[in-house]
Amino acid sequence: MPPPLSSAAQAIVAASSRRDVAISSGGAATLPVSRATFDEVMVPCYAPAPYVPVRGEGSRVWDQDGRMYIDFAGGVAVTALGHCHPAMVKALEEQARKLWHVSNWFTNEPALRLAKRLIDATFAERVFFCNSGAEANEAALKLARRYAHDRHGPKKMRVVSTLNAFHGRTLFTVTAGGQAKYSSGFGPIPEGITHLPYNDVAALEAEFAARGPEICAVILEPMQGEGGMRPGTPEYLQAARRLCSAHDAMLIFDEIQSGMGRTGTLFSYMQKGAVPDILTSAKGLGGGFPIGAMLATADVASVMSVGVHGTTYGGNPLACAVAGAVFDVINTTEVLDGVKARHALFMEGLKAINARRRVFADLRGEGVWLGCELDARWKGKSMDVLKAAGDAGLMLLVAGPDVVRLAPSLLISLDEILEGLARLEIALNRALT
Ligand SMILES: *Cc1c(COP(=O)(O)O)cnc(C)c1O
Repeated sequence: MPPPLSSAAQAIVAASSRRDVAISSGGAATLPVSRATFDEVMVPCYAPAPYVPVRGEGSRVWDQDGRMYIDFAGGVAVTALGHCHPAMVKALEEQARKLWHVSNWFTNEPALRLAKRLIDATFAERVFFCNSGAEANEAALKLARRYAHDRHGPKKMRVVSTLNAFHGRTLFTVTAGGQAKYSSGFGPIPEGITHLPYNDVAALEAEFAARGPEICAVILEPMQGEGGMRPGTPEYLQAARRLCSAHDAMLIFDEIQSGMGRTGTLFSYMQKGAVPDILTSAKGLGGGFPIGAMLATADVASVMSVGVHGTTYGGNPLACAVAGAVFDVINTTEVLDGVKARHALFMEGLKAINARRRVFADLRGEGVWLGCELDARWKGKSMDVLKAAGDAGLMLLVAGPDVVRLAPSLLISLDEILEGLARLEIALNRALT
């Protein structure tokens, strides 16, 4: 027999368990807020646009005033299927009625199913789920160090990264990134990281010749996104593969922005002739729902035994259910071929604009991931173009002061491409005078 319970406590528990309580107290949803509220309540680490988006459908977004924007930004290469894609909404709603969270003291079906799909489609044999790109890279760098430590001893700890790289904002990943402006003022910072020029095979060879036994990993973006939209050459990525193999170092590809179909293959490495030991994914993986993943071979993953690493939310059923739906849409020939076809359309449209306006020194990129480098006359003006685009009803991105970046949905329609390009031309006309 259970011990008797006090009737007062029983009444309180019964009252607070009523499921209608939470539903009837939804007043917070109608609190009036605007862009001005941001400056009153938010940590000022962002400077968001003057308008506040409230609704999205495909590659169109509406703000508080009902104005429509064409979305060439894709939430920084995140909303790979556009906004509120029916497959994502269905997966989210179905899972929302089943199970949201159990922690990693239990496994769950959506996580196992997503892991199986990722393994079947890539070099990888093991998956670790987390909630963001930075966490995926943090896991990758920790894994590389731990693997080298366990197999070769504590002296093999050096991480080779590149200048202008971006790997996230945790202290380790921001230090691995090659932009001092993001890591300065947070010292002491993690030690043992070298930064080399990107796409420079000779620099990589020289570093391995000088300190090969110390190097545990090379971390590279197959194309630098934040750092100016610079595609990695196959020769460079292949040289990194060769040098890592020769020196027992892990090759880590950060495919957080380049992956999940953005370049026209499921992951970008698939068209570069170089296969990593560890790969990180996030952004497009969840299509807008926060999730990150680190993929690795079984041998490499084996050093992360029970208790060595972890996260509370990583691999939660909601995120994995949505990511599973995103994965199934993206990993089809129609969608991946569609990305390549859209690349051709975008390049054609951008070249036509440039023929009329002569504002770009270079148009580059892969798939639906495009960098428009402003020519010498308009250097430093990318933010002006972005702001003028907002006024013209177009969401855009930049990649540094000189490059306008496009990372729209993989499924953006022909109409939306044409309408967006027309608005881009208006913005260029207004900003660059
Ligand atoms: C965005 C990005 C990250 C960081 O991802 P978060 O989800 O913001 O932590 C890391 N690496 C690359 C290449 C990225 O583009």
